[in-house]
Amino acid sequence: MKPPPFTYCDPESVDEAVALKSEFGVGALVLAGGQSLLPMLSMRLVRPRALIDINKIGDLQRIEHRDGVLEVGAGVRQYELEDHTTVGALVPLLPEAAGCVGHIETRHRGTVGGSLAHADPAAELPCTAVALHAVLVVQGRSGTRALAAQDFFRGRLTTALEPDEVLVAVRYPVPPPTAGHGFVEVARRAGDLALAGAAAVVDLDGDGRIAAASVGALGIADTPVRAAEVENALIGEAPAEETIARAAQRIVPSVTSQDDLHATLAYRRHLAPVVVRRAVAAAVAHAREMRNGT
Ligand code: FAD
Repeated sequence: MKPPPFTYCDPESVDEAVALKSEFGVGALVLAGGQSLLPMLSMRLVRPRALIDINKIGDLQRIEHRDGVLEVGAGVRQYELEDHTTVGALVPLLPEAAGCVGHIETRHRGTVGGSLAHADPAAELPCTAVALHAVLVVQGRSGTRALAAQDFFRGRLTTALEPDEVLVAVRYPVPPPTAGHGFVEVARRAGDLALAGAAAVVDLDGDGRIAAASVGALGIADTPVRAAEVENALIGEAPAEETIARAAQRIVPSVTSQDDLHATLAYRRHLAPVVVRRAVAAAVAHAREMRNGT
């Protein structure tokens, strides 16, 4: 099928994109990598009056590190998170998660902002943003807002973006250099959206106990899930296998997704603690390496 007719705009600045977004309001959609939007357009699942193509806006394609924050422009391609040396050195969870997004072909078009704005609950980058306590910067006609990732995702394919707003950047606080990370997901085939997955960042104290833990989960609810109950059960504890397994079980009440053609709720309730346990165990092992300098 072909998309219904629409006005095509290709602004060269964020201000111009925001002005167009303000002019068309809900009738306009931003076109970034097109890896989700174009199939939806062709299937007429969305019928925008206007498409605002942001691919010419250089300001959206920057990656900058300043004052302990890694700022990634919304137009940065997903594959760049895998390849960029600064990203890999400062926030190694990002390249690991980004490498699980779709296929290398889609990652060369798909953008970081597009994945976040699309807000698929099984997507890797929204889950990683929640686990890393990222802040999303949006710009509208009344200026810019900074939203915590947890507040940005409102529901399945639903975000806190207002009709006149464009997502311009995501700011990742750089974890401590001694922190370890882990990312685990289960999908039917490589490149498919995951049935369930988890991202974990863990820091250990001098005695090898868990000093800090942050855990996100994907594919188990209508939004990415911040696993606060799991984190609370980990912090202060020695990271023994049974401690991690017991803490991981606390994700189960957060598994609220409906049965779908890929998995039942019961199966996801079985899978969620498994992926959380594995991601936390991987983060602990990595943190030990970072502390021992191995
Ligand atoms: P687009 O498709 O251009 O836009 C997506 C939505 O976000 C649209 O509603 C658009 O209006 C909005 N939008 C985009 N940028 C902005 C912005 N800056 N401000 C405001 N709104 C914006 N994704 C995964 O996470 N995991 C997977 O395993 C996965 N597998 C895939 C497999 C295939 C074969 C394909 C084709 C896609 C897959 N995807 C997967 C989706 C892919 O990662 C998309 O790139 C991503 O979901 C959307 O990013 P995009 O840049 O392509 O955005």
